[in-house]
Amino acid sequence: MVIIVGSGPIGLATAIELKRKNIPAKIIERGCLVNSIFHYPKDMTFFSTSERLEIGDVPFISHNPKPTRREALEYYRRAAESYDLDIHLYEEVQDIQGRDQSFTIKTDQDSYEASKVVVATGFYDVPKMMGIPGEELDKVRHYYDEAHAYAWQDVLVIGGGNSAVDAALETYRANANVTLAVRNSKIKESVKYWVKPDIQNRIKNEEITGFFNTEVKEVKESEVILDTPNGTKTITNDFVLAMTGYKPNFDLMTSFGIDLTDDEDKMPVYNEKTLETNRKGMYVAGVVCGGMDTSKLFIENTRVHAEHIANDIQKKID
Ligand SMILES: Cc1cc2nc3c(=O)[nH]c(=O)nc-3n(C[C@H](O)[C@H](O)[C@H](O)COP(=O)(O)OP(=O)(O)OC[C@H]3O[C@@H](n4cnc5c(N)ncnc54)[C@H](O)[C@@H]3O)c2cc1C
Repeated sequence: MVIIVGSGPIGLATAIELKRKNIPAKIIERGCLVNSIFHYPKDMTFFSTSERLEIGDVPFISHNPKPTRREALEYYRRAAESYDLDIHLYEEVQDIQGRDQSFTIKTDQDSYEASKVVVATGFYDVPKMMGIPGEELDKVRHYYDEAHAYAWQDVLVIGGGNSAVDAALETYRANANVTLAVRNSKIKESVKYWVKPDIQNRIKNEEITGFFNTEVKEVKESEVILDTPNGTKTITNDFVLAMTGYKPNFDLMTSFGIDLTDDEDKMPVYNEKTLETNRKGMYVAGVVCGGMDTSKLFIENTRVHAEHIANDIQKKID
């Protein structure tokens, strides 16, 4: 039995590849199926085309070339169903003891024996904190869901990537008074090409106030303090959408016995061909492999992990 921790797209892809090789596998997931995607902004459109998000050769048909979050949820439900995967939802893996061929996986509800373990826990559960005064206030959100709640409010959006740009444009169109604070000198290159001109023009026309080369210094009950190239600015504020990114749960990985590189990337230590970590019999799969650099690994380019892992496990069983 192989236990897979996490039912994201890559956890599912790994279970499918193992099933195709008749290797029994069980997924344990702390939330709902594809929990990270479920918690993305409600109206999000992927930057990938649908065929690049496919797993297990199940066709992903979407209305437009770039699928929506809702279409992805339906697609991954269908993919899991068509392979009749064994998935335990709303059960959290808390501890992994034992060794290769005889791991004991402890969850908040039960305990399981497994010969191999695959850790596919993604990076969406832990926001990168700014570490500034006031970040703990209720009005500071690290996850954005939909625009309606921000109508006629003074909203500060922090960040220059896709999540920040989507949140700024959506809340602006829902009648929020939006300020965008970007640490760098411009919007990130990686922002969806069909969205970028929109944000640039909204800033140019002063419909959204853009501050570049700017750090947020403090959040107060009804104001925020920005450190801009033209000096300190205090602006009135009702909500802060801190779209500053996310990072893998490093504490969980190290508690599983996975070593991390010493540099700032904190990459898990694994064999690039097999995805087996320094802990024999334990693999990593999906975007968790990227460590702090969450911009280089996606569903698109980590789907292949599933095949590498299943091949290696089969070889070892044989
Ligand atoms: C807003 C946004 C848009 C994106 N758009 C794209 C895109 O267009 N194209 C693309 O290729 N990629 C995109 N990505 C990146 C990619 O979609 C996600 O990172 C993707 O979900 C990664 O899949 P995964 O299976 O590696 O991890 P995840 O989907 O994050 O799955 C990890 C799972 O592990 C579970 N888990 C964590 N800890 C435990 C535990 N202790 N016990 C049990 N379960 C646990 C989580 O609940 C989660 O369901 C996007 C990411 C974001 C944030």
